[in-house]
Amino acid sequence: MDPLTAEMTNNRPAAAKAVPLPGTAEPGLSGRLPLPAGVNLNRIEWGAALPILFYHLVALLAFIPWYFSWTGVIVAVIAARLSGLLGINIGYHRLLTHRGFRCPKWFEHVLVVIAICCVEDTPARWVAVHRRHHQHADEQPDPHSPLVNFLWGHIGWLIIKNPELNRLGIYERYAKDILRDPFYVALERNWLQLKIILIQWLVFFGLGFLAELAMGGTAMQALQFGLSILIWGVFVRTVFVWHQTWAVNSITHLWGYRNYQTDEDSRNNMVIGLLAHGEGWHNNHHADPRSARHGHKWWEFDTTWLTIRLFEKLGLATDVVGPSPYVMKAAATAGQTITTHGPDGTPTH
Ligand SMILES: [Zn+2]
Ligand SMILES: [Zn+2]
Repeated sequence: MDPLTAEMTNNRPAAAKAVPLPGTAEPGLSGRLPLPAGVNLNRIEWGAALPILFYHLVALLAFIPWYFSWTGVIVAVIAARLSGLLGINIGYHRLLTHRGFRCPKWFEHVLVVIAICCVEDTPARWVAVHRRHHQHADEQPDPHSPLVNFLWGHIGWLIIKNPELNRLGIYERYAKDILRDPFYVALERNWLQLKIILIQWLVFFGLGFLAELAMGGTAMQALQFGLSILIWGVFVRTVFVWHQTWAVNSITHLWGYRNYQTDEDSRNNMVIGLLAHGEGWHNNHHADPRSARHGHKWWEFDTTWLTIRLFEKLGLATDVVGPSPYVMKAAATAGQTITTHGPDGTPTH
């Protein structure tokens, strides 16, 4: 095994190093980081900044009464819960990035299509950026450490060009396993990602439009209801899921408690833990990245983990990886720091 592959697959902290300090609270901001090398704040990443601006502006239409419907609100809440949980948490994060379980290929692709509808970029890009985050968390090469400042960790890193996140470079380093799948390669080309997103708009609008017509509404009423479902179910929902994901990057590296003394600033944050379906138990996750279960204490409610367990019972998930015995055993002792830098997920089985 070459050193690179060994490093990429070595996702367990060594037993000797895995000694957490249960309940220890580190001081808040342990220091300020410089921006990643080569970042110039005047260089905007327009390919990301424009869609982010567009979605936020369209989502604001939700405040105009003509676009409001209670059905739209309910659709937005349900779609936000499901798309964030199934697409981002399970599909992109716990399955593709960390290989916390296996599932049939068709089911993996369904999860990825849902993730694409969340407009958080392609699986190769998401996985590569996130593996780099684990490898360099809260060090200068971390793509989105909030130790630079909160805004950088939350949204700045997306809308400012970062030469270190050049697609070809990070794909070669972090996403070779993802790009073995022709579907994920296709998502990098031919505007396929955009087509899926636009089809999603049409489906939400079309279902609302047709439902209103079926209930005897006029064409204008159908247009109004269809737009309400589109704006709430797609635009408001997507903006909500974005901030939910971004809050994991920003808030859970700043505020919260630590079950494990890791060599970065990850935290378990109650609000984000509950809001983002378990993704906010981020200190547990950095201590044990491979585990599909992020909630370690009884109060660390992890709906993403429970959903994966449900998939397991339904025969849709196998080889589910639970918390590392090393980390759990180490919870009873204290003294050393868990080394998390270096390992960055598990590309292959
Ligand atoms: Zn993190
Ligand atoms: Zn992760």
